[in-house]
Amino acid sequence: MKELLKEILDKCYKYTDEGAVANYIPELAKANRKEFGICVITDANSVFAVGDHDKCFTMQSAIKPIILLLALMDNGEEKVRSLVGTESTGKPFDAFNYSDQALKNEHINPMINTGAIALCSLIKGKDYEEKFRRLLNLARKMADNPNLEVDENVYLSEKLTGNKNRALAYMLKAYGMLEDNVEDVIDCYFKACSIKARSTDLAKIAFVLANHGTNPLTGEEICSRDYAKYINAVLMTCGMYDGSGEFAVNVGIPAKSGVGGGIMGVVPNRMGIGIYSPALDRKGNSIAGIKALEMLSKKLDLSIF
Ligand code: GLU
Repeated sequence: MKELLKEILDKCYKYTDEGAVANYIPELAKANRKEFGICVITDANSVFAVGDHDKCFTMQSAIKPIILLLALMDNGEEKVRSLVGTESTGKPFDAFNYSDQALKNEHINPMINTGAIALCSLIKGKDYEEKFRRLLNLARKMADNPNLEVDENVYLSEKLTGNKNRALAYMLKAYGMLEDNVEDVIDCYFKACSIKARSTDLAKIAFVLANHGTNPLTGEEICSRDYAKYINAVLMTCGMYDGSGEFAVNVGIPAKSGVGGGIMGVVPNRMGIGIYSPALDRKGNSIAGIKALEMLSKKLDLSIF
């Protein structure tokens, strides 16, 4: 496996020159586009990592599956679905996903910003500090890494300049879909996006989802099988922004990308994959990351279809 990953890394390295690193906030524009790392986990004793697998980046949208998971664990499926639906919208991650006078649960899903912001408000806790702490702890547990932390510079940059996300949160408020104070909710969302991880961490998180909620590395049951399946299904249809259909055809596995350059790939019952390469296509997906996943999927016949 390690040889295969090295070969894929070498063949896909040229794609790190294509696209552009995220620049919607100043801090992300500092990323080094040459960094490229892959980690694949197939069982407790088989962790294969090549390239810059130890380089940290911010999770950005790759935290959304964990926000969804905690919202499900805290509230159950019915409540979650009543606020945030499951349909892909066919619009970019930061679009105002409404077209007429109403914004409803069926217009948003947990993998777009509006959905993830709404779900932050469902996390249980006496205040937003506690809610965020619980989210970070769940991410740490899934990644089996107690050292996951917020990148303060990225967080402050998001907070200072993330006005589109703020506007999305105010839209939720205007349509009666957010009870809490907008600034508190959006602060939790900005912090969540700013959690630093490595490809190895993403691979471990994906491996828990691939094993339907149990962490085979520690034997711990983190969530129910039903919730893991819920998340994997949403990742399949909505995890790669408005490139999810193309990704389903070319790679065929549940996955989630983030504009920090990370992608986690879930191969049910088989493996967890984490990739990092910060140069993105116009939809916000890592270009080299997607190329590597396409190659890996073809070589190992990973498509679930
Ligand atoms: N912090 C980013 C935003 O909300 C996350 C977007 C992403 O990774 O897709 O704009």
